[in-house]
Amino acid sequence: MASLIKLEDFDNFKDTRDYPADLILPAVLNAVRQLDEREELEPYVRAILFDTNDTPHGPVEIVDILTHKITVSRETGLAAFILKGKSFPTVRHHQVAHQIYRLEKISGLRFAVFGAAGNVLDPAKEQFCATAERLGCLYAIFDAMDLARLFVAYGFLCPRDGRKIIAGRCACGYSPKRRIFNVLQKESLRALNAAHRLKQDAGLIVLPTGTGKTRIAAEDAKDFAAKSVLYIAHTQEILDVAQSELEAVFGSENVSRHTDRRTLKTLNKVNIATIQLLRSNRTSVRPNTFDYLVVDEFHHAAAKSYKDLIGRVRPDFLLGLTATPFRGDRQDIAALCNQNVLVEFELRSGIDLGVLAPYHYFGCFDDVDYSTIRHNGITYDIRDLERALIIPERDKAVIQKWREHAEEKPTLAFCCSHGHAERVAQAFNAVGIPSDYYLSSTRKADRKALTERF
Ligand SMILES: [Zn+2]
Repeated sequence: MASLIKLEDFDNFKDTRDYPADLILPAVLNAVRQLDEREELEPYVRAILFDTNDTPHGPVEIVDILTHKITVSRETGLAAFILKGKSFPTVRHHQVAHQIYRLEKISGLRFAVFGAAGNVLDPAKEQFCATAERLGCLYAIFDAMDLARLFVAYGFLCPRDGRKIIAGRCACGYSPKRRIFNVLQKESLRALNAAHRLKQDAGLIVLPTGTGKTRIAAEDAKDFAAKSVLYIAHTQEILDVAQSELEAVFGSENVSRHTDRRTLKTLNKVNIATIQLLRSNRTSVRPNTFDYLVVDEFHHAAAKSYKDLIGRVRPDFLLGLTATPFRGDRQDIAALCNQNVLVEFELRSGIDLGVLAPYHYFGCFDDVDYSTIRHNGITYDIRDLERALIIPERDKAVIQKWREHAEEKPTLAFCCSHGHAERVAQAFNAVGIPSDYYLSSTRKADRKALTERF
């Protein structure tokens, strides 16, 4: 029988009961009104439903999400979502009429949901309700308040200030109790669980940057019931994220970030350190002290210092994380993990599954003859590259292409070397486009300032 149901009637959204409307602050409502339907509303709802099937957009589009994963009072069925975000501060009848009309074309539709962060005018609501009644399905209208409760309850927005939760924590320090895994994380945790059941002692996870690899490590170390965890990476920035994720899972009192030889003497349940610190204090790392070892940015692991350390630690389980699978030295890396690549997704999958934001790619031709640049099988010769690329004509061409495609947009440029990066930044500055460079040798304080200015 057709009837109007509420947000908390959905079994999938039952945690919103912990966040009644009177707990939602105006800042959170304002944040919800600024969410983009394609890049935020839709992926968030999909993540809560663990739905990996992306509904195609375009002329054939029926609704924004079509899923079998909805359950109401333990009854599961086909559900259609129409979602309108910041592009529709007011939702008028003609803007949704075609989508509502198409609900009638979906056979076996059990649930219909109309979610809008903006103000929905009555004629649009009326058409939606009348259509759902005629189809005999259960239906719901989610307004900005419902969406706010949903996204706070499931850990996407901070209840204190409405900011986005990144790496398990808001910039204000808030860390949600309940956090949703994205589909890539779920897949990885499933693979890791299987690896543990099979008593494997190492595994490599290859996922694109930004999909939340650190959280996978934190959750898996917990599932593994690790007595003592060591997490290593080669930059402080990676460790910042790791610390936040590990604290969210293990509690901050159980996580220590080591900064010198002295702190390494007192180990905690979870220990975080750079490879540089451990390399210069090799004797502080005693064998069999750690049962779970995580090496982040595992493509650096072929470096001798990582090999030595892994050999010393002898963990029960070694988890390698990397975003960079396709390198000439890939074989060494897989070998360190017993050739056990548990999960491997490329950037494209991250975008297709709604975990990463889509981007535009413009290929621009240049007239460099790369065949004259020496290549050792892994990379080009830096000096040859600099000779070919650091020329005034190229600087001019880069700036012109940037003006055509990205004028006024904050832009990151990747260069072939430190010298090249400084040179390109100078070229942009010289024509009045503010620019700076960020190198592996840039000091930590300067990095922070650069990121903020960007
Ligand atoms: Zn906050």
